[in-house]
Amino acid sequence: MTTAPATPVRTRFAPSPTGFLHLGGARTALYSWAFARHFGGTFVLRIEDTDLERSTPEAVQAILDGMKWLGLDHDEGPFYQMQRMDRYREVVAQMLKEGTAYHCYSSPEEVEAMRERMRAAGEKPRYDGTWRPEEGKTLPPVPAGRKPVVRFRNPLDGDVTWHDVVKGEITISNKELDDLVIARPDGTPTYNFCVAVDDWDMRITHVLRGDDHVNNTPRQINILRAIGAPLPQYGHLPMILGSDGQKLSKRHGAVSVMEYPAQGYLPEAMLNYLARLGWSHGDDEVFSMAQFCEWFNLEHLTASAAQFNNEKLAWLNNYWIKQADNNRLAGLAKPKLEADGADFNGAPELPVVLALLKERTNTINELADAAMLFYRQPQPDAALMAQHFTDAVKPALAAFAERIKTVEWSKEAIAAMIKEVLAAHGLKMPQIAMPLRLIITGQLQTPAIDAVLQVFGRDTVSARLAKYL
Ligand code: GLU
Repeated sequence: MTTAPATPVRTRFAPSPTGFLHLGGARTALYSWAFARHFGGTFVLRIEDTDLERSTPEAVQAILDGMKWLGLDHDEGPFYQMQRMDRYREVVAQMLKEGTAYHCYSSPEEVEAMRERMRAAGEKPRYDGTWRPEEGKTLPPVPAGRKPVVRFRNPLDGDVTWHDVVKGEITISNKELDDLVIARPDGTPTYNFCVAVDDWDMRITHVLRGDDHVNNTPRQINILRAIGAPLPQYGHLPMILGSDGQKLSKRHGAVSVMEYPAQGYLPEAMLNYLARLGWSHGDDEVFSMAQFCEWFNLEHLTASAAQFNNEKLAWLNNYWIKQADNNRLAGLAKPKLEADGADFNGAPELPVVLALLKERTNTINELADAAMLFYRQPQPDAALMAQHFTDAVKPALAAFAERIKTVEWSKEAIAAMIKEVLAAHGLKMPQIAMPLRLIITGQLQTPAIDAVLQVFGRDTVSARLAKYL
Protein backbone atom coordinates (compact mmCIF):
# COMPACT_ATOMS: atom_id res chain seq x y z
CA MET A 1 0.00 0.00 0.00
CA THR A 2 1.35 3.39 -0.93
CA THR A 3 0.64 6.05 1.63
CA ALA A 4 -0.63 9.25 0.12
CA PRO A 5 1.97 12.02 0.01
CA ALA A 6 1.34 14.90 2.39
CA THR A 7 1.02 17.47 -0.41
CA PRO A 8 -1.08 17.14 -3.57
CA VAL A 9 0.88 15.18 -6.15
CA ARG A 10 2.16 17.20 -9.11
CA THR A 11 4.21 15.43 -11.76
CA ARG A 12 5.51 16.56 -15.09
CA PHE A 13 6.72 15.28 -18.41
CA ALA A 14 9.39 17.58 -19.77
CA PRO A 15 10.54 16.45 -23.20
CA SER A 16 13.03 18.31 -25.36
CA PRO A 17 11.44 18.67 -28.81
CA THR A 18 14.40 17.52 -30.84
CA GLY A 19 13.01 14.50 -32.66
CA PHE A 20 10.09 12.19 -32.17
CA LEU A 21 8.46 10.88 -29.00
CA HIS A 22 10.50 7.75 -28.39
CA LEU A 23 9.53 4.72 -26.34
CA GLY A 24 11.62 5.73 -23.33
CA GLY A 25 10.00 9.16 -23.26
CA ALA A 26 6.55 7.66 -23.60
CA ARG A 27 7.20 5.37 -20.65
CA THR A 28 8.39 8.31 -18.53
CA ALA A 29 5.27 10.23 -19.50
CA LEU A 30 3.07 7.22 -18.72
CA TYR A 31 4.51 6.73 -15.23
CA SER A 32 4.31 10.43 -14.38
CA TRP A 33 0.74 10.55 -15.66
CA ALA A 34 -0.33 7.38 -13.84
CA PHE A 35 1.21 8.52 -10.58
CA ALA A 36 -0.70 11.81 -10.76
CA ARG A 37 -3.89 9.96 -11.66
CA HIS A 38 -3.39 7.45 -8.82
CA PHE A 39 -3.45 10.25 -6.27
CA GLY A 40 -5.89 12.53 -8.06
CA GLY A 41 -2.98 14.90 -8.63
CA THR A 42 -1.89 17.10 -11.50
CA PHE A 43 0.11 16.12 -14.55
CA VAL A 44 2.02 18.97 -16.19
CA LEU A 45 3.42 19.02 -19.72
CA ARG A 46 6.49 21.17 -20.21
CA ILE A 47 8.35 21.56 -23.46
CA GLU A 48 12.08 22.13 -22.90
CA ASP A 49 12.80 24.00 -26.09
CA THR A 50 15.79 26.15 -25.12
CA ASP A 51 18.16 24.31 -27.43
CA LEU A 52 17.31 26.50 -30.39
CA GLU A 53 19.45 24.59 -32.83
CA ARG A 54 17.85 21.23 -32.17
CA SER A 55 14.26 22.15 -31.21
CA THR A 56 11.67 22.21 -33.97
CA PRO A 57 7.91 22.86 -34.13
CA GLU A 58 7.53 19.49 -35.89
CA ALA A 59 9.08 17.77 -32.90
CA VAL A 60 6.70 19.61 -30.55
CA GLN A 61 3.83 18.39 -32.69
CA ALA A 62 5.22 14.85 -32.67
CA ILE A 63 5.23 14.90 -28.86
CA LEU A 64 1.67 16.24 -28.69
CA ASP A 65 0.51 13.66 -31.26
CA GLY A 66 2.17 10.82 -29.40
CA MET A 67 0.66 11.86 -26.07
CA LYS A 68 -2.74 12.20 -27.68
CA TRP A 69 -2.57 8.79 -29.32
CA LEU A 70 -1.62 7.23 -25.99
CA GLY A 71 -4.35 9.18 -24.19
CA LEU A 72 -1.90 10.72 -21.71
CA ASP A 73 -3.84 13.90 -21.11
CA HIS A 74 -2.13 16.70 -19.23
CA ASP A 75 -3.86 18.97 -16.74
CA GLU A 76 -1.56 21.96 -17.12
CA GLY A 77 0.57 23.21 -19.99
CA PRO A 78 2.10 22.75 -22.38
CA PHE A 79 4.48 25.30 -20.92
CA TYR A 80 7.31 26.31 -23.22
CA GLN A 81 10.61 27.24 -21.62
CA MET A 82 11.29 29.76 -24.39
CA GLN A 83 8.26 31.67 -23.18
CA ARG A 84 9.57 31.81 -19.63
CA MET A 85 12.80 33.72 -20.26
CA ASP A 86 11.72 36.75 -18.24
CA ARG A 87 11.06 34.55 -15.25
CA TYR A 88 14.50 32.89 -15.47
CA ARG A 89 16.15 36.32 -15.73
CA GLU A 90 14.24 37.42 -12.67
CA VAL A 91 15.52 34.45 -10.65
CA VAL A 92 19.09 35.02 -11.87
CA ALA A 93 18.86 38.66 -10.73
CA GLN A 94 17.50 37.57 -7.37
CA MET A 95 20.30 35.03 -6.91
CA LEU A 96 22.91 37.64 -7.79
CA LYS A 97 21.36 39.90 -5.21
CA GLU A 98 21.35 37.19 -2.57
CA GLY A 99 24.87 36.08 -3.37
CA THR A 100 23.96 32.52 -4.43
CA ALA A 101 25.25 33.36 -7.91
CA TYR A 102 27.99 35.66 -9.16
CA HIS A 103 29.31 37.29 -12.29
CA CYS A 104 32.28 35.56 -13.79
CA TYR A 105 34.44 37.44 -16.30
CA SER A 106 36.82 34.61 -17.14
CA SER A 107 36.95 34.26 -20.91
CA PRO A 108 36.22 30.87 -22.49
CA GLU A 109 39.94 30.61 -23.30
CA GLU A 110 40.87 31.26 -19.67
CA VAL A 111 38.38 28.66 -18.48
CA GLU A 112 39.77 26.15 -20.96
CA ALA A 113 43.31 26.92 -19.83
CA MET A 114 42.42 26.38 -16.14
CA ARG A 115 40.76 23.09 -17.01
CA GLU A 116 43.84 22.05 -18.93
CA ARG A 117 46.03 22.84 -15.93
CA MET A 118 43.85 20.71 -13.67
CA ARG A 119 43.78 17.84 -16.10
CA ALA A 120 47.57 18.00 -16.29
CA ALA A 121 47.73 17.90 -12.48
CA GLY A 122 45.51 14.82 -12.51
CA GLU A 123 42.53 16.70 -11.02
CA LYS A 124 38.95 16.80 -12.18
CA PRO A 125 38.70 19.84 -14.48
CA ARG A 126 36.47 22.53 -13.04
CA TYR A 127 36.15 26.26 -12.74
CA ASP A 128 38.80 27.46 -10.29
CA GLY A 129 36.70 30.11 -8.55
CA THR A 130 38.66 33.15 -9.78
CA TRP A 131 35.52 35.29 -9.75
CA ARG A 132 33.79 33.59 -6.86
CA PRO A 133 33.35 36.18 -4.11
CA GLU A 134 34.60 35.16 -0.68
CA GLU A 135 34.89 37.00 2.60
CA GLY A 136 37.97 39.18 2.51
CA LYS A 137 38.85 38.22 -1.06
CA THR A 138 39.58 40.94 -3.59
CA LEU A 139 38.24 40.12 -7.03
CA PRO A 140 40.33 40.89 -10.12
CA PRO A 141 39.54 44.10 -12.06
CA VAL A 142 36.68 43.66 -14.51
CA PRO A 143 38.15 43.31 -18.03
CA ALA A 144 36.96 46.22 -20.18
CA GLY A 145 34.15 45.41 -22.59
CA ARG A 146 33.77 41.78 -21.54
CA LYS A 147 30.30 40.45 -20.80
CA PRO A 148 30.16 38.10 -17.83
CA VAL A 149 28.45 34.77 -17.45
CA VAL A 150 26.54 34.11 -14.23
CA ARG A 151 27.76 31.18 -12.19
CA PHE A 152 25.95 29.35 -9.44
CA ARG A 153 27.79 29.39 -6.17
CA ASN A 154 27.84 25.69 -5.54
CA PRO A 155 28.64 24.62 -1.95
CA LEU A 156 32.34 23.76 -1.71
CA ASP A 157 32.04 20.97 0.84
CA GLY A 158 29.62 18.32 1.88
CA ASP A 159 27.50 15.97 -0.18
CA VAL A 160 24.24 15.99 -2.02
CA THR A 161 22.16 12.96 -1.12
CA TRP A 162 18.75 11.99 -2.32
CA HIS A 163 16.67 8.88 -2.00
CA ASP A 164 15.95 7.92 -5.58
CA VAL A 165 12.63 6.06 -5.80
CA VAL A 166 14.12 3.75 -8.43
CA LYS A 167 17.80 3.50 -7.61
CA GLY A 168 17.85 3.98 -3.84
CA GLU A 169 20.13 6.41 -2.04
CA ILE A 170 22.52 8.36 -4.24
CA THR A 171 25.25 10.60 -2.84
CA ILE A 172 27.44 12.95 -4.85
CA SER A 173 30.18 15.01 -3.26
CA ASN A 174 30.00 18.74 -3.87
CA LYS A 175 33.66 18.52 -4.81
CA GLU A 176 32.48 16.77 -7.97
CA LEU A 177 30.30 19.71 -8.92
CA ASP A 178 31.37 22.85 -10.68
CA ASP A 179 30.18 26.40 -10.18
CA LEU A 180 27.71 25.90 -12.97
CA VAL A 181 27.10 28.65 -15.53
CA ILE A 182 23.41 29.51 -15.12
CA ALA A 183 23.28 32.43 -17.57
CA ARG A 184 25.36 33.02 -20.68
CA PRO A 185 26.95 36.38 -21.59
CA ASP A 186 23.82 37.34 -23.55
CA GLY A 187 21.70 36.58 -20.47
CA THR A 188 20.11 33.36 -21.73
CA PRO A 189 19.71 30.82 -18.94
CA THR A 190 21.16 27.31 -19.11
CA TYR A 191 19.52 23.93 -18.98
CA ASN A 192 19.82 22.74 -15.36
CA PHE A 193 18.88 26.15 -14.06
CA CYS A 194 15.69 26.32 -16.15
CA VAL A 195 14.66 22.84 -15.02
CA ALA A 196 15.13 23.79 -11.36
CA VAL A 197 13.19 27.05 -11.68
CA ASP A 198 10.40 25.29 -13.58
CA ASP A 199 10.09 22.43 -11.11
CA TRP A 200 9.86 25.03 -8.38
CA ASP A 201 7.35 27.32 -10.11
CA MET A 202 5.24 24.37 -11.25
CA ARG A 203 5.32 23.00 -7.70
CA ILE A 204 6.45 19.59 -8.93
CA THR A 205 6.45 17.02 -6.14
CA HIS A 206 7.76 13.96 -8.03
CA VAL A 207 10.24 13.96 -10.89
CA LEU A 208 10.37 10.75 -12.89
CA ARG A 209 12.81 10.80 -15.79
CA GLY A 210 15.42 8.80 -17.63
CA ASP A 211 18.56 7.87 -15.77
CA ASP A 212 20.65 9.86 -18.24
CA HIS A 213 19.69 12.75 -15.92
CA VAL A 214 21.19 11.33 -12.72
CA ASN A 215 24.22 13.61 -13.09
CA ASN A 216 22.01 16.67 -13.38
CA THR A 217 20.09 15.95 -10.20
CA PRO A 218 22.67 17.08 -7.59
CA ARG A 219 23.15 20.34 -9.52
CA GLN A 220 19.42 20.92 -9.63
CA ILE A 221 19.07 20.05 -5.94
CA ASN A 222 21.75 22.60 -5.02
CA ILE A 223 20.05 25.28 -7.10
CA LEU A 224 16.64 24.45 -5.59
CA ARG A 225 18.12 24.72 -2.12
CA ALA A 226 19.78 28.02 -2.97
CA ILE A 227 16.52 29.55 -4.17
CA GLY A 228 14.64 28.21 -1.17
CA ALA A 229 12.49 25.75 -3.11
CA PRO A 230 11.18 22.49 -1.67
CA LEU A 231 12.82 19.41 -3.19
CA PRO A 232 10.75 17.04 -5.26
CA GLN A 233 11.28 13.33 -4.97
CA TYR A 234 13.35 11.95 -7.83
CA GLY A 235 13.11 8.65 -9.64
CA HIS A 236 15.47 7.82 -12.49
CA LEU A 237 14.18 5.15 -14.81
CA PRO A 238 16.70 2.83 -16.42
CA MET A 239 17.08 2.82 -20.16
CA ILE A 240 15.07 0.65 -22.48
CA LEU A 241 17.39 -1.73 -24.29
CA GLY A 242 16.89 -3.66 -27.49
CA SER A 243 16.25 -7.42 -27.38
CA ASP A 244 20.01 -8.00 -27.69
CA GLY A 245 20.81 -5.90 -24.61
CA GLN A 246 22.19 -3.00 -26.66
CA LYS A 247 20.83 0.53 -26.53
CA LEU A 248 17.45 0.57 -28.24
CA SER A 249 17.85 1.87 -31.76
CA LYS A 250 16.24 1.72 -35.16
CA ARG A 251 17.77 -1.61 -35.98
CA HIS A 252 15.59 -3.19 -33.24
CA GLY A 253 12.45 -1.88 -34.93
CA ALA A 254 10.46 1.28 -34.41
CA VAL A 255 11.70 3.56 -31.65
CA SER A 256 9.25 6.37 -32.36
CA VAL A 257 5.89 5.88 -30.68
CA MET A 258 3.98 7.14 -33.70
CA GLU A 259 5.35 4.39 -35.90
CA TYR A 260 3.22 1.97 -33.91
CA PRO A 261 -0.22 3.20 -34.95
CA ALA A 262 1.12 3.20 -38.51
CA GLN A 263 1.99 -0.46 -38.08
CA GLY A 264 -1.40 -1.28 -36.63
CA TYR A 265 -0.84 -1.28 -32.89
CA LEU A 266 -3.52 -0.15 -30.47
CA PRO A 267 -2.62 2.44 -27.84
CA GLU A 268 -3.91 0.20 -25.04
CA ALA A 269 -1.42 -2.50 -26.09
CA MET A 270 1.47 -0.01 -26.19
CA LEU A 271 0.47 1.42 -22.79
CA ASN A 272 0.07 -2.02 -21.27
CA TYR A 273 3.47 -3.00 -22.66
CA LEU A 274 5.28 0.15 -21.49
CA ALA A 275 3.63 -0.08 -18.08
CA ARG A 276 5.23 -3.47 -17.48
CA LEU A 277 8.56 -2.41 -18.94
CA GLY A 278 10.04 -1.10 -15.72
CA TRP A 279 7.30 -1.75 -13.19
CA SER A 280 5.46 -4.81 -11.95
CA HIS A 281 2.39 -5.80 -10.04
CA GLY A 282 2.92 -9.44 -9.10
CA ASP A 283 2.50 -11.61 -12.17
CA ASP A 284 -0.04 -9.37 -13.83
CA GLU A 285 0.75 -8.89 -17.51
CA VAL A 286 -2.53 -7.72 -18.99
CA PHE A 287 -4.36 -4.75 -17.56
CA SER A 288 -6.22 -1.63 -18.57
CA MET A 289 -5.04 1.89 -17.86
CA ALA A 290 -7.77 2.31 -15.25
CA GLN A 291 -6.33 -0.72 -13.48
CA PHE A 292 -2.78 0.55 -13.93
CA CYS A 293 -3.59 3.94 -12.42
CA GLU A 294 -5.14 2.17 -9.47
CA TRP A 295 -2.10 -0.06 -8.95
CA PHE A 296 0.77 2.20 -9.94
CA ASN A 297 3.10 3.29 -7.18
CA LEU A 298 6.77 4.04 -6.90
CA GLU A 299 7.54 0.93 -4.90
CA HIS A 300 7.71 -1.58 -7.70
CA LEU A 301 9.78 0.24 -10.26
CA THR A 302 12.51 -1.94 -11.71
CA ALA A 303 16.04 -0.71 -11.15
CA SER A 304 17.62 -2.77 -13.93
CA ALA A 305 17.36 -1.86 -17.60
CA ALA A 306 14.41 -3.36 -19.43
CA GLN A 307 14.70 -5.14 -22.76
CA PHE A 308 12.22 -4.36 -25.47
CA ASN A 309 10.47 -7.46 -26.74
CA ASN A 310 8.52 -7.16 -29.98
CA GLU A 311 6.85 -10.55 -29.59
CA LYS A 312 5.38 -9.62 -26.24
CA LEU A 313 4.09 -6.35 -27.62
CA ALA A 314 2.51 -8.22 -30.54
CA TRP A 315 0.93 -10.69 -28.13
CA LEU A 316 -0.55 -7.84 -26.09
CA ASN A 317 -1.76 -6.18 -29.26
CA ASN A 318 -3.54 -9.38 -30.23
CA TYR A 319 -5.15 -9.45 -26.80
CA TRP A 320 -6.34 -5.85 -27.03
CA ILE A 321 -7.55 -6.29 -30.60
CA LYS A 322 -9.71 -9.18 -29.37
CA GLN A 323 -11.14 -6.93 -26.66
CA ALA A 324 -11.71 -3.98 -28.98
CA ASP A 325 -15.09 -2.95 -30.31
CA ASN A 326 -15.51 -4.18 -33.88
CA ASN A 327 -16.75 -0.84 -35.19
CA ARG A 328 -13.63 0.82 -33.84
CA LEU A 329 -11.44 -1.84 -35.46
CA ALA A 330 -13.30 -1.29 -38.73
CA GLY A 331 -12.54 2.43 -38.58
CA LEU A 332 -8.86 1.67 -38.05
CA ALA A 333 -8.59 -1.04 -40.72
CA LYS A 334 -10.63 0.63 -43.44
CA PRO A 335 -8.01 3.09 -44.75
CA LYS A 336 -5.60 0.24 -45.46
CA LEU A 337 -8.29 -1.85 -47.13
CA GLU A 338 -9.21 1.12 -49.31
CA ALA A 339 -5.57 1.72 -50.17
CA ASP A 340 -5.31 -1.95 -51.13
CA GLY A 341 -8.26 -1.61 -53.49
CA ALA A 342 -10.99 -3.28 -51.44
CA ASP A 343 -14.43 -3.33 -53.10
CA PHE A 344 -17.08 -2.87 -50.43
CA ASN A 345 -19.98 -3.02 -52.86
CA GLY A 346 -22.43 -5.71 -51.84
CA ALA A 347 -19.75 -7.20 -49.58
CA PRO A 348 -20.18 -8.19 -45.92
CA GLU A 349 -20.04 -5.47 -43.28
CA LEU A 350 -16.46 -4.79 -42.17
CA PRO A 351 -17.12 -5.08 -38.39
CA VAL A 352 -18.67 -8.51 -38.96
CA VAL A 353 -15.68 -9.61 -41.02
CA LEU A 354 -13.21 -8.34 -38.42
CA ALA A 355 -15.05 -10.10 -35.61
CA LEU A 356 -14.39 -13.33 -37.48
CA LEU A 357 -10.72 -12.62 -38.14
CA LYS A 358 -9.44 -10.79 -35.08
CA GLU A 359 -8.82 -13.87 -32.99
CA ARG A 360 -5.66 -14.62 -34.90
CA THR A 361 -4.16 -11.28 -35.90
CA ASN A 362 -1.46 -9.33 -34.09
CA THR A 363 -1.91 -5.96 -35.76
CA ILE A 364 -4.58 -3.89 -37.46
CA ASN A 365 -2.54 -4.13 -40.65
CA GLU A 366 -2.62 -7.92 -40.49
CA LEU A 367 -6.32 -7.71 -39.81
CA ALA A 368 -6.85 -5.52 -42.87
CA ASP A 369 -4.77 -7.89 -45.01
CA ALA A 370 -6.79 -10.86 -43.80
CA ALA A 371 -10.06 -9.01 -44.43
CA MET A 372 -9.21 -8.41 -48.11
CA LEU A 373 -10.49 -11.92 -48.67
CA PHE A 374 -14.03 -10.54 -48.41
CA TYR A 375 -13.48 -7.50 -50.59
CA ARG A 376 -12.03 -8.77 -53.84
CA GLN A 377 -13.18 -11.13 -56.54
CA PRO A 378 -11.76 -14.62 -56.02
CA GLN A 379 -9.23 -15.68 -58.60
CA PRO A 380 -8.41 -19.23 -57.69
CA ASP A 381 -5.20 -20.61 -59.07
CA ALA A 382 -5.96 -23.00 -61.96
CA ALA A 383 -3.57 -25.71 -60.76
CA LEU A 384 -5.08 -25.66 -57.28
CA MET A 385 -8.55 -25.83 -58.72
CA ALA A 386 -7.55 -28.86 -60.81
CA GLN A 387 -6.16 -30.48 -57.70
CA HIS A 388 -9.15 -29.87 -55.41
CA PHE A 389 -12.19 -29.40 -57.66
CA THR A 390 -12.16 -32.96 -58.95
CA ASP A 391 -14.89 -35.04 -60.56
CA ALA A 392 -15.14 -36.97 -57.30
CA VAL A 393 -16.32 -33.90 -55.36
CA LYS A 394 -18.40 -32.14 -58.04
CA PRO A 395 -21.66 -34.03 -57.27
CA ALA A 396 -21.26 -33.19 -53.57
CA LEU A 397 -20.69 -29.52 -54.35
CA ALA A 398 -23.74 -29.55 -56.63
CA ALA A 399 -25.80 -30.97 -53.77
CA PHE A 400 -24.34 -28.38 -51.46
CA ALA A 401 -25.25 -25.60 -53.93
CA GLU A 402 -28.81 -26.86 -53.93
CA ARG A 403 -29.05 -27.10 -50.14
CA ILE A 404 -27.79 -23.58 -49.48
CA LYS A 405 -30.86 -22.17 -51.20
CA THR A 406 -32.99 -23.20 -48.26
CA VAL A 407 -30.74 -23.89 -45.29
CA GLU A 408 -31.16 -21.62 -42.31
CA TRP A 409 -28.35 -19.05 -42.64
CA SER A 410 -26.50 -19.64 -39.41
CA LYS A 411 -23.03 -21.01 -38.85
CA GLU A 412 -24.42 -24.03 -36.99
CA ALA A 413 -27.03 -24.90 -39.62
CA ILE A 414 -24.47 -24.52 -42.43
CA ALA A 415 -22.01 -26.78 -40.55
CA ALA A 416 -24.70 -29.42 -40.00
CA MET A 417 -25.73 -29.27 -43.63
CA ILE A 418 -22.11 -29.70 -44.82
CA LYS A 419 -21.82 -32.79 -42.61
CA GLU A 420 -24.94 -34.28 -44.16
CA VAL A 421 -23.65 -33.66 -47.68
CA LEU A 422 -20.29 -35.23 -46.78
CA ALA A 423 -21.99 -38.31 -45.32
CA ALA A 424 -24.31 -38.71 -48.30
CA HIS A 425 -21.32 -38.64 -50.69
CA GLY A 426 -18.86 -40.57 -48.58
CA LEU A 427 -16.38 -37.67 -48.43
CA LYS A 428 -14.19 -36.15 -45.76
CA MET A 429 -14.29 -32.50 -44.67
CA PRO A 430 -11.22 -31.24 -46.58
CA GLN A 431 -12.53 -32.72 -49.81
CA ILE A 432 -15.38 -30.25 -49.81
CA ALA A 433 -13.89 -27.47 -47.71
CA MET A 434 -10.85 -26.96 -49.97
CA PRO A 435 -12.65 -26.50 -53.30
CA LEU A 436 -15.26 -24.40 -51.50
CA ARG A 437 -12.57 -22.14 -50.11
CA LEU A 438 -10.99 -21.76 -53.53
CA ILE A 439 -14.26 -21.00 -55.28
CA ILE A 440 -15.64 -18.62 -52.67
CA THR A 441 -12.47 -16.87 -51.53
CA GLY A 442 -9.78 -17.72 -54.07
CA GLN A 443 -7.46 -19.06 -51.39
CA LEU A 444 -6.93 -22.21 -49.34
CA GLN A 445 -6.25 -20.57 -46.00
CA THR A 446 -9.32 -19.08 -44.37
CA PRO A 447 -11.01 -19.26 -40.99
CA ALA A 448 -13.54 -22.11 -40.51
CA ILE A 449 -15.48 -22.58 -43.72
CA ASP A 450 -18.94 -22.51 -42.10
CA ALA A 451 -18.13 -19.12 -40.53
CA VAL A 452 -16.68 -17.77 -43.79
CA LEU A 453 -19.75 -18.84 -45.77
CA GLN A 454 -22.09 -17.37 -43.20
CA VAL A 455 -20.33 -13.99 -43.34
CA PHE A 456 -20.25 -13.90 -47.16
CA GLY A 457 -24.01 -14.40 -47.26
CA ARG A 458 -26.23 -16.76 -49.18
CA ASP A 459 -26.35 -14.74 -52.41
CA THR A 460 -22.61 -14.33 -52.86
CA VAL A 461 -21.94 -17.99 -52.05
CA SER A 462 -24.60 -19.11 -54.55
CA ALA A 463 -23.37 -16.78 -57.28
CA ARG A 464 -19.74 -17.81 -56.91
CA LEU A 465 -20.60 -21.52 -56.92
CA ALA A 466 -22.82 -21.07 -59.95
CA LYS A 467 -19.79 -20.09 -62.04
CA TYR A 468 -18.34 -23.58 -61.64
CA LEU A 469 -21.38 -25.83 -61.55
N1 GLU B 1 14.15 17.57 -21.32
C1 GLU B 1 14.74 16.39 -20.78
C2 GLU B 1 14.74 15.27 -21.81
O1 GLU B 1 13.99 15.34 -22.77
C3 GLU B 1 14.03 15.89 -19.54
C4 GLU B 1 14.35 16.70 -18.36
C5 GLU B 1 13.68 16.26 -17.09
O2 GLU B 1 12.77 15.42 -17.10
O3 GLU B 1 14.09 16.80 -16.07
O4 GLU B 1 15.51 14.36 -21.67
